Amino acid sequence: MKGYAMLKIGESGWIEKERPKCGPLDAICKPLALAICTSDVHTLWEGAIGERHNMILGHEGCAEVVEVGELVKDFKPGDRVLVPAITPDWNSLEAQAGFSMHSGGMLAGWKFSNFKDGVFSEFFHVNDADGNLALLPDNINTVDACMLSDMVPTGFHGAELADVQYGDVVLVIGIGPVGLMSVAGANLRGASRIIAVGTRQVCVDAAKGYGATDFISYKNGPIDEQVMKMTNGKGVDKIIIAGGGVETFSPAVKCLKPGGKIGNVNYLGSGENIDIPRAEWGVGMGHKQINGGLMPGGRLRMEKLSALVSAGKLDLSPLSTHVFEGWDHIEEALFLMRDKPADLIKPVIKIQD
Ligand code: NAD
Ligand code: ZN
Repeated sequence: MKGYAMLKIGESGWIEKERPKCGPLDAICKPLALAICTSDVHTLWEGAIGERHNMILGHEGCAEVVEVGELVKDFKPGDRVLVPAITPDWNSLEAQAGFSMHSGGMLAGWKFSNFKDGVFSEFFHVNDADGNLALLPDNINTVDACMLSDMVPTGFHGAELADVQYGDVVLVIGIGPVGLMSVAGANLRGASRIIAVGTRQVCVDAAKGYGATDFISYKNGPIDEQVMKMTNGKGVDKIIIAGGGVETFSPAVKCLKPGGKIGNVNYLGSGENIDIPRAEWGVGMGHKQINGGLMPGGRLRMEKLSALVSAGKLDLSPLSTHVFEGWDHIEEALFLMRDKPADLIKPVIKIQD
């Protein structure tokens, strides 16, 4: 079979590989549609997960099941399925402790294009099919379905980590596709005012649609100063970080109310430490929590999040700004994600209707 792979850090291309084998609990799937992630860019060009040779890329897509192991109960060949980016081992101790995304070690629930070949391939392997796949609802198209692999679960997890409650004033730092889903998640959880940090017009328009009420630019001076001014010196109840680097934490702590919570879902690719400003952290006694997490994957999560889309409560169509048809466009879409033109949110490739 053919797959689009990371040949080594900084180099990618098509390779031939053997079709993966299906274990008793597993499924083999073929893609219906695929999406490119900022993480693919981090992996390939920035060496975010270290060196990999001939590893097929990709962890976002929806698919058709072509084979299942003899112990798989709920899926069969021909089923159209949602595929989460994170596919935990559900019988692991970490999963039993409530942190399935770290099954087998920190971040090890992330298997596609990390510990094994990803989904940019004619066929790909899914471990624990009953625990990780979910049926693709009939009223969700394959392009929107790709957003359920990673963008929705990650963005929404930001809102969970920040523990957004009814009426909260929420700051969302970074409104790429993940941050946009954090805006949507915060809105669904009942935030009142949602201040978004971002200026690209396509993202600002989408963020307004998802419930953002105010906008600021990190290019117009320190975020905390702008936020304190807009909130009459009070600060915000909750903060979701979905963009920037280690430098975003200090201003976040500064404009967070005592008792506030920060939920980070951003990948921190460089810098040794994160600065926590001592005085604004209440000299150690401000009850300002900082939480960071990898998205939860698995079937239940996919079913619940897709139910929001099916029920018309979450419109994913604004995210897929660039839709291509056919395998030939994978490379173009990947390079587009690296170069991030101003009108791009997510590139998606339709493989089969
Ligand atoms: P993106 O690059 O499209 O969006 C990030 C946005 O942040 C950009 O629009 C950028 O302009 C903006 N930004 C940069 N510096 C900023 C600053 N100082 N303040 C405010 N905004 C700033 O990326 P994305 O696809 O939306 O993903 C966001 C992050 O989430 C990435 O780091 C990605 O690797 C990570 N991610 C995490 C998980 C997870 O499970 N936790 C899953 C997927 C992606
Ligand atoms: Zn992703």
